[in-house]
Amino acid sequence: MGREHAMVLQSAGSSLKRRLRRVVDLAGASTGFMSLCERRMRSGLTILMYHRVLPRTHCLDYPLQALVIPVEAFEQQMAWLASHCEVLPVRDAVQQLQSGRSSARPKVAITFDDGYADNFEHAAPIMEAQGLRGTFFVTSGFVETGAPLWFDRAAALWDGMGEPGKAKLMARLQSGCASLEEGMGSEFGHFRIEDWMAALKEMATNERDRFLQEVTAQLASPPEVGLAVAMQPGHLAKLHQAGHEVAAHSVTHPILPTLSDDALLEELTVSRDQVADWIHDEVVGFCYPNGDYDDRVAAAAEAAGYRYACATTPGLNLRTANLLCLHRRSVTMQRTMHANGRPDALGFRGEVSGFRERWR
Ligand SMILES: [Zn+2]
Repeated sequence: MGREHAMVLQSAGSSLKRRLRRVVDLAGASTGFMSLCERRMRSGLTILMYHRVLPRTHCLDYPLQALVIPVEAFEQQMAWLASHCEVLPVRDAVQQLQSGRSSARPKVAITFDDGYADNFEHAAPIMEAQGLRGTFFVTSGFVETGAPLWFDRAAALWDGMGEPGKAKLMARLQSGCASLEEGMGSEFGHFRIEDWMAALKEMATNERDRFLQEVTAQLASPPEVGLAVAMQPGHLAKLHQAGHEVAAHSVTHPILPTLSDDALLEELTVSRDQVADWIHDEVVGFCYPNGDYDDRVAAAAEAAGYRYACATTPGLNLRTANLLCLHRRSVTMQRTMHANGRPDALGFRGEVSGFRERWR
């Protein structure tokens, strides 16, 4: 079995789960339940969440596999959406949703988080070839400096470690001590990158940055973060000129509910002003980093002047939806591709329509 095949299988979860999903998808298609869910999409707005579109070999090298979709799979997904749905940026879709204007085809918005260069290089041209326009939520500090986001640095650090190193990192996190010296926390368990990222997300921004810096400083060579390249301001201007929406996603990608009121306001307003400067237009949309928000964060986003904000909770947005916590459906390689690496068109329909949400 080649590396490619093995990794797709690995990233796709257990084969039993996958087979079960396939059986349920086929049953949904043959009994009409899938079509029923697709018809229900017409009563609201479906927002899809993507992060990165990369050539297949790069997808397999990227440690955060839930955030990437191979170019060919993305092409097929866009072709399906172009022929079955009315696709528009979130800004316009939200306006239509509120006006109550119904459409013959399901309304879908395609969104990208973070601001990676592949959005401009791969995703936008594929969408434009199908006549589609999307919404790009960019982390302004990432675009401004090009310095990798904290979770890319953390993922590269993890990826470069062997099992003992990973167990030590987890032990360091749990004990609050960044030293990697022998003899401390030597209990070896099997940890997944998801455990590592979840534990880091719990930390305050400063504390997490200090911890990652301290651990990295102890390594003989810094971890390779080569695939985490940001778009440049000029790319954002071109996306905007081509009819896409460019919107904000904070400055530093912090977990917003952990911030003070002042820091929260700064993340909301500085990112908006930077993006507005780059595209020479107003920015009306925001997307909560990591999908984390609470009442205080949503109120601050509204007070800062945002017309809408996207979260990561799945679901269909109805006309009565709270525009400051819009649902989105995540599209992942694990759930929209077959074990052999081919795109799973029926699986994609199941994800987009919410059919699979009913069977989780
Ligand atoms: Zn993000």
